Amino acid sequence: MDCESGNDFSETGNSEVEKFQTMFLNKLTAVHGVCLQQASPWQQYTALAAVVRDLIGADWQQTKQLYATSETKQVYYLSIEFLLGRLLGSNLLNLGLYDVADKALSKLGICINELEQAEPDAGLGNGGLGRLAACYLDSMASGSLPGHGCGLRYKYGLFEQRFVEGMQYEYPDGWLKDGYAWEYRRPDDAVEVMFGKDEIETVLAVPYDVPIIGYQNNVVNTLRLWSAEAAIGSSACLIDGHQDCQSEIDNCNSIEAITNILYPDDSTYQGKVLRLKQQYLLVSASLKSILRDYKAQNRPVKDLDKYVAIHINDTHPALAVPELMRILLDEEHIAWDRAWSITINTLSYTNHTVLPEALEKWPVDMFKALLPRIYEIINDINEHFCHDLWLCYPGEWDKIAQMAVIADNQVHMAHLAIVGSHSVNGVAKLHTEILKTQVMKNFSDYYPIKFNNKTNGVAHRRWLIKANAALAKTITKTIGEDWLKQPAALAEFAKYADDSGLQQDIAAVKRTNKLNLAKYVWEKYDIRLSVDSIFDVQIKRIHSYKRQLLNALHIMDLYNKIKAQPNIDITPRTFIFGGKAAAGYYEAKATIKLINTIAGIINNDKLQDKLKVIFLEDYNVSLAELVIPAADVSEQISTAGKEASGTGNMKLMMNGAITIGTLDGANIEIKEAAGEDNIFIFGLTANQTTDFYKYGGYHSWDIYHSDDRIKTVMEQLVNGFMPVPKDEFSVFYSSLLHENDQYFVLKDFNAYAEAHQRLDNRFKDQAAWRRMAINNIAQSGRFAIDRTFAEYSEDIWTVNPVRPQEETNEATLDKACARDSRASILMQ
Ligand SMILES: *Cc1c(COP(=O)(O)O)cnc(C)c1O
Repeated sequence: MDCESGNDFSETGNSEVEKFQTMFLNKLTAVHGVCLQQASPWQQYTALAAVVRDLIGADWQQTKQLYATSETKQVYYLSIEFLLGRLLGSNLLNLGLYDVADKALSKLGICINELEQAEPDAGLGNGGLGRLAACYLDSMASGSLPGHGCGLRYKYGLFEQRFVEGMQYEYPDGWLKDGYAWEYRRPDDAVEVMFGKDEIETVLAVPYDVPIIGYQNNVVNTLRLWSAEAAIGSSACLIDGHQDCQSEIDNCNSIEAITNILYPDDSTYQGKVLRLKQQYLLVSASLKSILRDYKAQNRPVKDLDKYVAIHINDTHPALAVPELMRILLDEEHIAWDRAWSITINTLSYTNHTVLPEALEKWPVDMFKALLPRIYEIINDINEHFCHDLWLCYPGEWDKIAQMAVIADNQVHMAHLAIVGSHSVNGVAKLHTEILKTQVMKNFSDYYPIKFNNKTNGVAHRRWLIKANAALAKTITKTIGEDWLKQPAALAEFAKYADDSGLQQDIAAVKRTNKLNLAKYVWEKYDIRLSVDSIFDVQIKRIHSYKRQLLNALHIMDLYNKIKAQPNIDITPRTFIFGGKAAAGYYEAKATIKLINTIAGIINNDKLQDKLKVIFLEDYNVSLAELVIPAADVSEQISTAGKEASGTGNMKLMMNGAITIGTLDGANIEIKEAAGEDNIFIFGLTANQTTDFYKYGGYHSWDIYHSDDRIKTVMEQLVNGFMPVPKDEFSVFYSSLLHENDQYFVLKDFNAYAEAHQRLDNRFKDQAAWRRMAINNIAQSGRFAIDRTFAEYSEDIWTVNPVRPQEETNEATLDKACARDSRASILMQ
């Protein structure tokens, strides 16, 4: 954030810095026709990005060559979301040139952080699932694996969130409006995708490739994002030959609308059709391009599964199952049984949720109209499958109906994905267990070997080395640099947990990061945060099961306590929230309003600075990179059994925040790793919540009547205590009391408050707290995505890395400089 970054450049050679500087200045003139003094920050940013593009070109070409000629399997990761965030900083880091660029620019009086912030945050995803996909790309490239991402190039990413009087409003995120420095349009690789029945609609899918740079290993992989376009002026666009220009253009607009926006509103029929079109476009275009590349290697299609692994991230790309079948049957003329075994062996699927409302289903009629051949194939898959089930479970109609791919006039996408893949994985131990024993029990009994667990991870390169460079340096100073490429080596750090010098160092780093965040908050919101207070962070999508409401009610209770006893001994706290609510999710939006309202009351009350609350607008990857390094406490308080894994919990742990959380998702494994003494666990277990759902026995009104603290807080929601229109928050009164508190907020309230009390006490012993932080950092290595990715490679994809020749920075720069000067000669 700061220009006086205080970086120590002693290790960077001067000649590198000078070369880099020359390239940058040349680029500024070549690309924008300006000199440094004339250049705006955006021009400087794009020029710097262009330098990076030059620097990776040769590696990209070499990597492609290597993959095209190697015997190794290629992995294609299909995902409807890729939440990349910004790439300039991470690209420079992965190239090993961040410090060089920093030094080169600061000598010119430019702050590299400011240039980084000129980049739009690529928000092509909602949250965890999309961020996971982005972390995989980083890990595959860093692990020298031939791994390609396949996604969609939405013109508008996830909406920009703004608050007006505490309410969320959604604004379009036009991230592409000034162009995107990291994409390469590949019109030559466009493919046609067909929709409809009688009037066939042909859509041109045009790929935009984004280079994915490995960590200092000379590998550059590719993320291919498809954009829907009409084949302008082609016969495909002129349906009846008499169309005038205007209607042709209208038709083009409707085609381009397919990749206009991430998750179009699906409350209408038209909106649903659009989503289905997106899913098919992603799958069909990706498979066509995969097969084209495969065939270019002169290998027979029947060996596809030996050389290609295609991964389905959640069910959105599950149409890969019938689409691959369609290609094998109709275009390659392979018989059904053979085609089916190739399909299964090629595909694998990750499930991300156990929430029934999130399991995708599509109406059969929509399918028939939009994708008639695909529907036919799904129908055949279903018949084969039900026939096999019948042989295994003769007469058990109910069971067979529950497992069918088509039932009740709907296509069950998760069933399709399970039946059509050789591997189905959950994303944390508990989640996989729940899949196997509850949600997908029938499938797990039928296909026991398909089901397996792959606990999520996060890219330690982005979330630690880059987001928290000061902590990374402290770690390296203590245990050497092995951990940079092998995050498991972080475990060494635990040996120094009692070292008071190290404890002081990490406390100083945390303080600086808190100051950074406080500066941002001060500049943007005019609110002063005390860095001596505990920074208590809950950042994630707003959802009832994630229980931001529990956090909010607890803050109200703390406030009531301080009002009642102004001199009470409480460590000052700053509660920090971030997260977007889905546009149509009423209760989630009311939660945002509630937290902002509480913040208004508390921040304007004189509480001797004991309490502050702030809800940061527009949570995204870049904001996460600012907040996470500054967090003391990580709130992971979902209803047990509901959060599949969580990855925010891992990022925060890696940055030395202490978790207060339920035994849910990966929190359980975080507890196992960090040890019970280094985490604050509270609340119902998944078995207990399941039992309440199954057998009843919980009555939230009983708690309300017997617990005065809870009763007070509940009444404050509706009795005029809040300066909002009456009934603004009655939705919570209803859900917690009239609807018997489906997420056990009141049931867990006291346990949560008590855990906070323990946490508060522990924070008073600073040495104990720092020891906890060091232990958490040390044990976070197993939550690095490289571990997850190695497990996928071995167990699911059965694929090995391909190692290119490594080159020094100096050599890369020399080559690029040579090209650069050739280019400038040509331009003269
Ligand atoms: C990591 C991340 C998430 C996922 O957070 P959870 O706490 O696991 O739900 C969501 N959004 C962004 C921007 C992230 O970086």
